[in-house]
Amino acid sequence: MIPVEKLVDHVRTYNPSSNAKLITDAYEYGKLMHGGQTRHSGDPYFTHPIEVAALLAQQNLDDSTIVTALLHDVIEDTEATYKEVAKKFGVEVAQLVDGVTKLTNLELSSNDAKQAENVRKLLLAMSKDVRVILVKLGDRLHNMRTIKHMRPEKQLQKARETMDIYAPLAGRMGMQWMRDELEDLSFRVLNPEGRNSILRRFLTLRSQTEDVIPKITQDIRDVLQKAGIEAEVVGREKKPYSVWRKMQEKGEGFSRLSDIYAFRILTNEEEDIYKALGAVHKRWTAVPGRFKDYLSQPKSNGYRSVHTTVSGRDGKRVEIQIRTGQMHDVAETGVAAHWSYKDGHRVENPFAVDPFAWLASLTERFGNSDDQDHEEFLEHVKLDMFADQVFCFTPKGDVIQLPRGATPIDFAYAIHTRIGAACVGAKVDGRRVPLWTRLRNGQSIDVTTAEGQRPQSSWIDIAVTGRAKSAIRRALREEHREGYVRLGTELARVALEHVGKKSTDKALTTASKKLGLKNKEALLARLGSAEMTGADLVGALYPELLTNGKPETDLPAAEILGLNPGQYAQPGQCCQPLPGERIVGIATRGKGVVFHTIHCEKLAEYEDQSSRWIDLRWTQGRNDPNNNVTIEVTMANDAGVLGRICTLIGEQNANIADLQFTERKSDFYRMTIEIQVRDVEHLHHVITAVEADSDVAHVKRTRQRLHGTQAEPQKGANGVT
Ligand code: MN
Repeated sequence: MIPVEKLVDHVRTYNPSSNAKLITDAYEYGKLMHGGQTRHSGDPYFTHPIEVAALLAQQNLDDSTIVTALLHDVIEDTEATYKEVAKKFGVEVAQLVDGVTKLTNLELSSNDAKQAENVRKLLLAMSKDVRVILVKLGDRLHNMRTIKHMRPEKQLQKARETMDIYAPLAGRMGMQWMRDELEDLSFRVLNPEGRNSILRRFLTLRSQTEDVIPKITQDIRDVLQKAGIEAEVVGREKKPYSVWRKMQEKGEGFSRLSDIYAFRILTNEEEDIYKALGAVHKRWTAVPGRFKDYLSQPKSNGYRSVHTTVSGRDGKRVEIQIRTGQMHDVAETGVAAHWSYKDGHRVENPFAVDPFAWLASLTERFGNSDDQDHEEFLEHVKLDMFADQVFCFTPKGDVIQLPRGATPIDFAYAIHTRIGAACVGAKVDGRRVPLWTRLRNGQSIDVTTAEGQRPQSSWIDIAVTGRAKSAIRRALREEHREGYVRLGTELARVALEHVGKKSTDKALTTASKKLGLKNKEALLARLGSAEMTGADLVGALYPELLTNGKPETDLPAAEILGLNPGQYAQPGQCCQPLPGERIVGIATRGKGVVFHTIHCEKLAEYEDQSSRWIDLRWTQGRNDPNNNVTIEVTMANDAGVLGRICTLIGEQNANIADLQFTERKSDFYRMTIEIQVRDVEHLHHVITAVEADSDVAHVKRTRQRLHGTQAEPQKGANGVT
């Protein structure tokens, strides 16, 4: 058992102002409380917390973390209480110990990778402070180091959990050495044959290439010395698991040196990194495709380094990582570097990852940091980035992620819509609770279902997830369809009258088609059940009438991309391409490029002249409202129809450039109208609005221009009219 003096002395080496009395008191208290308890190995139980504390001291961590490590099992395994720990060692330590206890009590049993990510989030969500995770990782590392004393099936379970959850978590925190060791200890349990085969291969290679590490190390040192760069050079054998994983990923065996050995150049100065790289590349040939620059683009966990692979002695490949000593510290300790002490001060490592940015990267939620007190945040690195989430377990141990405030109803629907619909009650951690109970992190939920149960309308207020709410509404709509259709009919009438339109069958049918619904009843039922709003209906028919219609003035003007300098483009009159449509350009002998829609028949003429084709596209942006396009409208021969159609087109902010009757029968007219629109979307707005009119039978876009002006283009200098 490590004596307390040794632990205190160690902490003093990096933190002379450490509170020796606090650490000593915690040591004595923990030893007293764990009393005669023993570990599977037969050692006194308290050897474990001390080893964990020593592990954290190796990471130069602060007093609270060391004390928490010493006490991390007292609340769980002894008579000690939160209150007592708080009284003796302060609230900060008590909260940290409590956090570790909560993580220890989680029943983690998930095996698949998708779940593992959820479990990692759960661990983070339940740890209000990153130091809780640091202690938990130390706890797990010591338990893995002593795993051989456990029952075989328990060993497998712990190793699996470590491989899936804790090792990647250490990696995400940037603690590379911790990740490597956790993986290798797990690998030893999960696949001893695989690990042995790698080790045997190591042995063979070592016997063939004797003393290769010192030789290459010396070669690199010589190169750097000649270049006048001061640096430390270290060579090492890679861990069996990282070799194994690489082989699995690549699906091939290993034979190259670079698969087994890795070398590191640690420079004093940042500017020496690229100099060293240059010297190495000058001396040996760089292997293409193996150069990685994490210096100009650091990883989100703060990792900075330059990696390269070169063909070294006898053409053998050697992998080299180059970084400064300070960057190396960050690469090994990651987020823990934030609490590290050196000579009594928090280390000011300029490359230490900003825990704030790191947390943001964990949640993939950047920004949003303005309202936080940055300083206070950094002090404790509160893990409240998951404050808007809860993670709960199914009886099988799968983790379900839900928004905060979620209830058993949401949980049930998150598992399956059928379970949600048939839900009659729920048990949380074995106790029956009302359905409106708010769920908390780490709770285990057992949903009770009954055949014949249907979603209740009161559930809409209980559920918070969109998934549950819409499933409930859908079910209610089916059940109360008639009532909803009646209500929807009224809502449609009000919404359309509000913009001066009538809610006719034709309008509703057009809208339902536009919205991809089966018929107008489906649309009305959705309106009635509040799955859709009146604004949705108006927007589907008359988007330009919505008061919140987007003014596009802020956008830059749209243009055509793909032209060579000096070229200019003009639309083909044959197909009248609009902004937003796929286009192709045809270079003409003279000045310009004529562009066509991708389906324009004219393009067939140029099929064997591929050198004239130019790949063009429109940029997103504000479009001029005067792109000509022609539509053909078939309508009833009725007084006032034509006037209404002109009004409808005007309301949609489109100009009428020209119009012409093409057919006049006693019961219907067909006419061609040339209008001016912004883009293809605008054209669709116009078509829908016209089509919604009761007296309009059919509207379509046509490539037949008015007054027969189009026909055959002249074969002029530029090939078009
Ligand atoms: Mn423990």
